[in-house]
Amino acid sequence: MTGKPSVAIIGAGLSGLRLAQRLTPFMQVTVFEKSRGLGGRMSTRRKDGFAFDHGAQYFTARSADFEAFLRPYLEDGTVQPWAPRLAQLSSAQAPPRWTAPRYVATPGMTGLAKAMAAELTVRRAVQVDRLVRSGDQWQVLDAEDTDLGRFDWVISTAPSPQTTRLMPLEFAGHPSLETAVMQGCYSLMLGFDTPQVLDWEAAWVGQDPLAWIAVNTSKPGRPDHYCIVAQTSNSWAQANLERDQDAIRTELMATVEIVTGVAASTAAYIGLHRWRYASVATPSATPFLIDPDNRLAAAGDWCGAGKVEAAFDSASALAEALEITLTG
Ligand SMILES: Cc1cc2nc3c(=O)[nH]c(=O)nc-3n(C[C@H](O)[C@H](O)[C@H](O)COP(=O)(O)OP(=O)(O)OC[C@H]3O[C@@H](n4cnc5c(N)ncnc54)[C@H](O)[C@@H]3O)c2cc1C
Repeated sequence: MTGKPSVAIIGAGLSGLRLAQRLTPFMQVTVFEKSRGLGGRMSTRRKDGFAFDHGAQYFTARSADFEAFLRPYLEDGTVQPWAPRLAQLSSAQAPPRWTAPRYVATPGMTGLAKAMAAELTVRRAVQVDRLVRSGDQWQVLDAEDTDLGRFDWVISTAPSPQTTRLMPLEFAGHPSLETAVMQGCYSLMLGFDTPQVLDWEAAWVGQDPLAWIAVNTSKPGRPDHYCIVAQTSNSWAQANLERDQDAIRTELMATVEIVTGVAASTAAYIGLHRWRYASVATPSATPFLIDPDNRLAAAGDWCGAGKVEAAFDSASALAEALEITLTG
């Protein structure tokens, strides 16, 4: 190998972009992202003047490493604390208290990924289908057999079931990868022409199908148009993943009305998103996967607690291991 080794990173969520940032000093990095947008599950849907964070709602920064990483983004306002009025609905329990700050990206959850990607090479709307050996390298192909390039290393940060499908059989990480179990979630998005009267801005719901409701407009830097995001419990979503989506939408709208008093049917915009792989029920057996003989690796939130911070931790740990492998 002459010069810097090349690496294809699959996925422009937080793990893929963090890996790209960390590896750029000693590797030639290309990130492939199947969506047009960046950020993966840290996502924002914009429609008819409304903006919904329909994936991750907020994130914590419990580790010193993640705090240090966030500092410049906090300084320039890309990331800001969110301190909504909290409530607990459909349960006699008091809402959990937040003792540490919760953060959001601005002007939507994708904002952090956009800032991170500014200095990186990201090929968007390109879905990697498979990897084929080409001498000492991996040839990366899409489903139409388009040659996306040859790379010394390939790292997948796709959710674990997708990484399992992408990785060649010889990948030594398969046994650890296959212990990871992910669960779904539905997000109902409601955009209103006029603000709704509620005495909370974010609430846990103690009764299926819903688990969480937030007034998205209460987050810093959002457009004024009043938006609510309601999310189901993961267990309910998992049991209802294949049901008719119109029936799911109707059931979630009815539940929003029962638990909040908000007439969901009066919303000017009503959207539903099904996340097949939203959170992690059981993580992989290791905090990242690396196979130096085959020059393949994988990382993601499914290597940990299924949260934004877990995605960062997994990517950081893999970057360190790769640096040691490559630079000795
Ligand atoms: C509904 C919901 C609510 C959540 N709430 C919270 C929360 O409140 N707090 C919190 O901390 N976390 C929350 N999370 C979890 C959080 O969003 C994730 O832990 C984190 O964003 C995962 O980042 P990642 O980079 O590991 O994976 P992802 O964000 O999933 O990134 C993987 C990327 O790979 C891309 N990809 C997949 N396959 C291919 C392919 N073949 N070719 C090219 N690209 C591909 C995907 O499009 C995606 O962009 C929530 C998630 C969901 C869905």
